[in-house]
Amino acid sequence: MIEYGKTYDEYKEIRKKTMMNATKKTKVLKRYKAKGDTKCGMCGIDLTSYSYSTGNYRVSTEYFHLVLTPLFYIDLCQEPTKCYKNYKKAGQK
Ligand SMILES: [Zn+2]
Repeated sequence: MIEYGKTYDEYKEIRKKTMMNATKKTKVLKRYKAKGDTKCGMCGIDLTSYSYSTGNYRVSTEYFHLVLTPLFYIDLCQEPTKCYKNYKKAGQK
């Protein structure tokens, strides 16, 4: 999660820098098998959800998996406008 109260332009700038710093970028689609509990690094929403019927996680929101260093990665909602909306909502709680 990033600090609350950023404007959309500031938010976009952080997102752009994060994308640029990534050594590897993978788009995770809904049909992909989810690895487990995954949250967006900027807005904090769940990108995967657990299905009790299958006993597996599934991708509920398509996202980017960005590898920043061999030890650090971040997942971000694919849609910046939706992500920012979620981020604003989270900041109002
Ligand atoms: Zn997000």
